[in-house]
Amino acid sequence: VPLKRAAAWGLGLTLFTHLHGHWLYLRRLDTDHTLLVPSTRPDPPSPPALTARVRVVVLDGLRDDVGENLPELQALGGARRIMRSEWPSYTYPNLAAMTTGVPPLLSGVRLNSGRTRVPLDTISDVALRHGRRVAVSGDWDLFAARVAPGAALSPVGDLEWIHFGKIDDAGHAHGAASPEYAEAAARGGRLVARLAGEMDLSRETLIVLADHGHRDRGGHGGREPEVTGAYFLAVGAGVRHGVRLPEAPMRDLAPTLARLLGLPPPRDNRGAVMADLFADVPLPPVEDLPYATGRWGRLAVMSLILTLLGLAFRRQLRFRARDFVPWVVYGVVFFAGYFALGYPLGWSIPRGYLRFFVETGLLGIGAGALAVWVGRRVRAQPATVLLLWGGYLLLAAAAGRDMARLEAPALAWAVVLGATLLLYLGGALCVSALIQR
Ligand SMILES: [Zn+2]
Repeated sequence: VPLKRAAAWGLGLTLFTHLHGHWLYLRRLDTDHTLLVPSTRPDPPSPPALTARVRVVVLDGLRDDVGENLPELQALGGARRIMRSEWPSYTYPNLAAMTTGVPPLLSGVRLNSGRTRVPLDTISDVALRHGRRVAVSGDWDLFAARVAPGAALSPVGDLEWIHFGKIDDAGHAHGAASPEYAEAAARGGRLVARLAGEMDLSRETLIVLADHGHRDRGGHGGREPEVTGAYFLAVGAGVRHGVRLPEAPMRDLAPTLARLLGLPPPRDNRGAVMADLFADVPLPPVEDLPYATGRWGRLAVMSLILTLLGLAFRRQLRFRARDFVPWVVYGVVFFAGYFALGYPLGWSIPRGYLRFFVETGLLGIGAGALAVWVGRRVRAQPATVLLLWGGYLLLAAAAGRDMARLEAPALAWAVVLGATLLLYLGGALCVSALIQR
């Protein structure tokens, strides 16, 4: 029976698409290599140090506006600004940017998979090379591997990294608008006050910052302003007091730490020293790596070609309006549930990828079954999975052949979500056709 053969092919294509989007594609986004040739040039002469010691406290996931209102942090004075998270606004890519001065596009660290060990020079490596001590502590045992990989650590450091993860946990579980998030942020504020109390801020410098923010409903990873607007405060020796400065990208932390400690920046650094922390100087314009928007144009052209082909062959294909009824039913039901569960059209997924997979899975199977039932009632052709697959191919092709270059962030998400949608709707249509008598 040709219909059953088509349905079996459709099911195979659907499973292949899922494998591509969720496994091959996501794995290639987070690469083991960098797009840079790691520099081996010798360090330039060191500038004079501005401070005897720097303590960097990473309050994971603290949004700028929430940190702004913490009384313990307000009491410290110092210099405030928004640190703009690099995209994708996950923890690992931003810790890599903070320590190497290299954004995710070039470092290859784009997700939290932890598979990658960046072969790039970090500010911790620089400090050790110049005879300084590096210390790492906090509530996350993988932190040292992210900020001082391979480094011989000391109990006390001239450069100290401290991690506090409770704010991010509360953000994922309850969202940034929740009392739980505010309470965790207050705990972070009290921790910072204690750490500052142990320091001699006339000789030493304290830097408090977040790697990213959170959506009101929780989640980070995307480009939303509340997600990329991370908290930053610098206080102590060498730093201006009581000023609010314009935002700076996360990659600027590494060269700024180097300047404070009187060290050369990490060898592959692409960031700029935050000179406005030290004196009232005019800022050079921030040079951000451009993301090619031309890929959307390519998607539009290919969609137009597909539409024209569909129209030209409409008699041969014998499409009727009712054939698209199951798609509409599926789309409306799926996305109503998707938004109700708090998911955005982007990378800022709350509550983790596993739960995303389970929840969208149940939703997709339910919506797919309903679409099949409605489709049978209106006698729609069930082989529309081939058209869906064509749509997915368009997305994947428009995202670019080397998808790891991340040139179209929204498109990169569309490929993953497209694979998810196709798995459930395509699967439901094909299974229904296979078991049809
Ligand atoms: Zn997180």
